[in-house]
Amino acid sequence: MVAPQNQLATSPLTQSVTSLWGVGPERAAQLARLDIHTIEDLLLHKPRRYEDRRKFLTIADLKLKEAATVRGKIIAAGVKRWRKSQRAIFECVLDDGTARLHCRWWQSYPWMEEYYTVGREFLVFGKPESLRPRTMDHAETEPIEPGEDEFIHVNRLAPIHPLTDGLTARVMRTLVWRALEKFEAQITEPNCVGQASRLSPSSEIQSQRQARRLSYVPTRANAVHMIHFPEEQADVEIARQRLALDEFVELQIQIQQRRRNFEAKSKALPCGGDNNRLIKPFLTALGFKLTGAQTKVLREIRADLGGAHPMRRLLQGDVGSGKTAVAACAALMALESGFSVALMAPTEILTEQHYANFSRWFESLGVRVELQTGNKKTSNIQHPTSNIERTRSAPSAIGHRPSAILTIGTHALLTSGFDLPNLGLVVIDEQHKFGVAQREQLVRKGNYPHLLVMTATPIPRTLGLTLYGDLDVSVIDELPPGRGQVKTFVRTSDMLPKVMEFIRQRLTEGRQAYVVYPRVEENADGLKAVTKEFENLKKLLAPFRVGLLHGRLAARDKDEAMSAFRANTASVLLATSLIEVGVDVPNATVMLIENAEAFGLAQLHQLRGRIGRGAHESFCILIADAKSAESRQRFKVLEETSDGFRIAEADLKLRGPGELLGQQQSGLPRFRFGDLTSDLDLIHKARDLAAQCVQKEAK
Ligand code: ADP
Ligand code: MG
Repeated sequence: MVAPQNQLATSPLTQSVTSLWGVGPERAAQLARLDIHTIEDLLLHKPRRYEDRRKFLTIADLKLKEAATVRGKIIAAGVKRWRKSQRAIFECVLDDGTARLHCRWWQSYPWMEEYYTVGREFLVFGKPESLRPRTMDHAETEPIEPGEDEFIHVNRLAPIHPLTDGLTARVMRTLVWRALEKFEAQITEPNCVGQASRLSPSSEIQSQRQARRLSYVPTRANAVHMIHFPEEQADVEIARQRLALDEFVELQIQIQQRRRNFEAKSKALPCGGDNNRLIKPFLTALGFKLTGAQTKVLREIRADLGGAHPMRRLLQGDVGSGKTAVAACAALMALESGFSVALMAPTEILTEQHYANFSRWFESLGVRVELQTGNKKTSNIQHPTSNIERTRSAPSAIGHRPSAILTIGTHALLTSGFDLPNLGLVVIDEQHKFGVAQREQLVRKGNYPHLLVMTATPIPRTLGLTLYGDLDVSVIDELPPGRGQVKTFVRTSDMLPKVMEFIRQRLTEGRQAYVVYPRVEENADGLKAVTKEFENLKKLLAPFRVGLLHGRLAARDKDEAMSAFRANTASVLLATSLIEVGVDVPNATVMLIENAEAFGLAQLHQLRGRIGRGAHESFCILIADAKSAESRQRFKVLEETSDGFRIAEADLKLRGPGELLGQQQSGLPRFRFGDLTSDLDLIHKARDLAAQCVQKEAK
């Protein structure tokens, strides 16, 4: 009755579209351009809009600039010369008995004269450009053929599908109709979904209207039918949700099966620690008390590190929430247990910052810390005072293990031939800057080590569950106490002199400032570039020292700029968004970002996260000559909230998942029906369904 998903390979729906009557090589080639190859592809070709053809507006009732569909007979058609330019345009005049409508196309093709012939009846969809005479430019048209299939095309909500050259809406609709006639009965319920949801049998499609009130879930076959030929507009969303659910379930099954396979073949290294032997002195020396959220997360991590399966955990925490200290404690647990730890970060600046911090923290504990970047590498001399070597290590087959150390590095850690012996835990900071492949590459340097990935990019939950569904998630949802407020302002560039004056005042008080431009070098896009503006800014802010930092500098110059800023010998750091990740200088209280419109919201939030890290009040100033209301709206979110999750959700809605995550995350699956900006409930439901299904299979 219910066909498991993996039997779809033999489903009749995988037949080529050429098995449909009327699809020859030429049609097939057209369909292929739309990525439609099989019957299933055709059935899942989602209409881009629907036209209500149950009652038509009369031409006389058309309103200026308001899209509408009318129906009329052609009373004249032909090529005309446009008065001024003498350009050839094609025009036909439609009459529906109430008024006339002129339809114009600004190119004329030979086929038009044969297509738009006098006497033929057409449906026309478009926006009137003028009402004297009534005129539409480049309207979408569809002939009405007197004949048996009229009920497919008119007197109903008619689907308008995405089309391609030579393939009209009418032909596409006919093909879909034929495919449904022949194959609808063969559309089976995929795994789990059918059993677990309340489904209605086909006959019930008649009484949808009542059923809809009872959280109606159509069968997949019904949903496919409804998405193309809805009885009313509300059916479309009901059908879309059902088909989206199927997509999410399929993905969640994959994710959960992967996780299950992983757990079946891997055995966890015992990294739960040794009575806080190292952690206790570490926390005592740290100088602050962990927040409740940090402690809670550490409990989760400790349970994983001492558990039966290797940890696979994502640690989410807004900028400044103190993920580094958590990573340090996690590292110490593994180190206490006698295992080595690798920490990977995306930039050299961040790596060096971590190296400086961890060396300082761990030195007195006798833990060796090494650095591995493209440019620098600390020597591999044995640390004489390492007290790790006398750790009671977990039983090992050989009985001897190399000493437990912490290695910190950039992607240079991934270099083949670079070994990480005795690896118990891998930590990846700012993990959204890496791809999944890189993460796995590092993990493979050990024998199923534990994995902790950390990110400050608050990922909307829809995306998190989709992308990171195979990871457990911990969230630090609390900032350390005593943080200064960050005030955010959006200003236009004519306010810059005032802004500079304001910055100068803060510098005079001993604070520091970041200035961020989008480009390294000037190019045609007119956005400000750090190299170009450097001299200018130095003069503007003299006598305060300004440092320069961007990705194309030599490593030594980057270091120098960063350490000068850290040591407060440079008061201002002019930089690209390179400083977006991780940089931590608590005395910096101003963040000025010019051409803010060139950045995404999540990115601006990250940049803003560089300030407000100390006790002083901080200020983020966004300079944007935003023309459109939309970009104003965009920045408003930043003025209103500092909640990274809300900002990420806004960003997701405005820019879509691909933009939000950047190219690194191209692993994101494409959904035909699923919508990551709004389908959180469906994704949760899909997760539960998939879990039931995977569990059942395992039995
Ligand atoms: P992020 O989560 O963005 O990586 P960091 O780990 O860089 O944040 O921490 C930001 C700043 O907060 C650092 O200066 C760090 O020393 C400090 N910090 C972390 N945890 C606490 C805490 N519990 N109390 C006070 N300050 C803390
Ligand atoms: Mg960090």
